[in-house]
Amino acid sequence: MNPSKAKQNESLDFIRKIITEDVKNNKYNRQIMTRFPPEPNGYLHIGHAKSIYLNFGVAEEFNGICNLRYDDTDPEKESMEYVESIQEDVRWLGFDWEDRLYFASDYFEQLYKFAVELIKAGKAYICDLSVEEIKEQRGTSDKPGIESPFRNRSVEENLDLFERMRKGEFKDGSRVLRAKIDMSSPNMLIRDPIMYRIKRVPHYRTGDEWVIYPSYDYTHGQSDAIEGITHSLCSLEFETHRPLYNWYRDQLLSLNMLKYCPEQIEFSRLNLTYTVMSKRRLLELVKKRIVSGWDDPRMPTLSGLRRRGFPPAAIRSFLDKVGISKRENYIDLSLLESCVREELDKKCNRVMAVLRPLKVIIQNYPEGKIEELEAPNHPKDSSMGSRKIPFSRTLYIEQDDFLEDPPRKFYRLSPGREVRLRYAYYIKCVGLVKDETGEIKEVHVTYDPETKGGFAPDGRKVKATLHWVAADQAVRAEARLYDRLFLKENPLEDADFLKTINPQSLDVVTCLGEPSLAGASPGSRYQFERLGYFCVDSVDSSPENLVFNRTITLRDTWSRIKKS
Ligand code: ATP
Ligand code: MG
Repeated sequence: MNPSKAKQNESLDFIRKIITEDVKNNKYNRQIMTRFPPEPNGYLHIGHAKSIYLNFGVAEEFNGICNLRYDDTDPEKESMEYVESIQEDVRWLGFDWEDRLYFASDYFEQLYKFAVELIKAGKAYICDLSVEEIKEQRGTSDKPGIESPFRNRSVEENLDLFERMRKGEFKDGSRVLRAKIDMSSPNMLIRDPIMYRIKRVPHYRTGDEWVIYPSYDYTHGQSDAIEGITHSLCSLEFETHRPLYNWYRDQLLSLNMLKYCPEQIEFSRLNLTYTVMSKRRLLELVKKRIVSGWDDPRMPTLSGLRRRGFPPAAIRSFLDKVGISKRENYIDLSLLESCVREELDKKCNRVMAVLRPLKVIIQNYPEGKIEELEAPNHPKDSSMGSRKIPFSRTLYIEQDDFLEDPPRKFYRLSPGREVRLRYAYYIKCVGLVKDETGEIKEVHVTYDPETKGGFAPDGRKVKATLHWVAADQAVRAEARLYDRLFLKENPLEDADFLKTINPQSLDVVTCLGEPSLAGASPGSRYQFERLGYFCVDSVDSSPENLVFNRTITLRDTWSRIKKS
């Protein structure tokens, strides 16, 4: 084990404990090898990140290697677009498969040969029942299945039919190849499962070379064995598949068709509150245009989270906190959000921007004068430097920061009240201008020139500090204020999960930012003081039309909603 990376034994999760033992006993007599095996039928989501982090993480810690392998056996749903997005996402999370990029579809010939050997050994047969009939005759958990009338076909006939299936002599769905295992097994998956189907659908990689396609279970395990995977780590729903995984593997081992003997170990999936995680449902959101695409910043996809501004380090630190176990549970979305805040707090420059501007005129500040004030980029890290921000007679503050008739405990600006403008001066409200509808158009203030930098030499205190921007120098930008996509902790509780969509998950405003934001490059992240973390959108932003995505607010506003 890599001592620099390996954690103390007692803090290891159960999978790392197993591997530690296997290494100690030299169980495999070779390097530890894992794989991340996505099906390219959608974009990766944060659940997949758990599997990526585990598989690549374990390989690294035990001086092993991890392959990236596409389990691409279902031509109807798979595409090159998905293949490419998956690679981008794995790299973004910080992992590297080097030259070990594999496709199950590259093993089709090999898998066919294995199947022929299983037929020869009397372990598989061609069944002419329809898929519906097979399902019906499979029985139930308390009723054994019925053996197929084709179960005892001769090896010769099976070989002949299988070859002709491959050649395309039979109609789609007219025949299948089934493993001959046990129709009365308590495990339904063992009841002569289907290994091959006839399906005339072109595959995104093999084109129309094949008209028969191997099943997921059959393909997955043999792909592991072909590559020499030692530990095949997968989520808990595959636990009942393990006997089948072992059956195929052990038959082929005893026929000397395999060199390696991988072992499957299951762990619990990541489930997050306020989130749906299955690719099928995410595709539904995309297709119904409820979101703008797989990379919509409200999606739990890695491309969505990246676009939203989540740093990969925050996702890794979240996954560290979640850990690995066999317990199924829901993780609170706010844990992920707090990891994002923690990471962004360290890394982001502070800037000032106003989302809903209210004009402020400083009556005693000279017309045309501009002062350059110094502002640190980070309150806790002086190595991040500082910048100049212009100050002038006309400014904007946040509408929320002013109330004409403030309730008790509202300490921000109101008539007669003095507050601090961040890095600038104290100002005091001396008047208002309203339009004919009664809406406040301007707030008139005076400033105290003695309070430059935001501190009064006479020690006079104010109760609030506001962010602001100088009107003429401000940079105009679009700000997309994202919030959780679902209103319910478990969106799937409703028969129709689309009914639990948060209608306010996106609010678009025109914001005004300090001049240092001009030309901000896509992907760059900032803390807008008092408002949250924002990131320049990587798709729609340009130097002329800046677009900021709100990554996250500064505080968890949902916890307050829940309590009240
Ligand atoms: P979904 O069910 O969300 O559509 P999937 O399991 O069909 O996803 P695959 O492409 O088959 O997606 O998954 C690749 C790997 O990622 C598998 O090994 C699977 O176990 C793992 N995985 C998928 N979802 C999660 C999750 N929520 N938590 C942990 N691992 C996951
Ligand atoms: Mg799946």
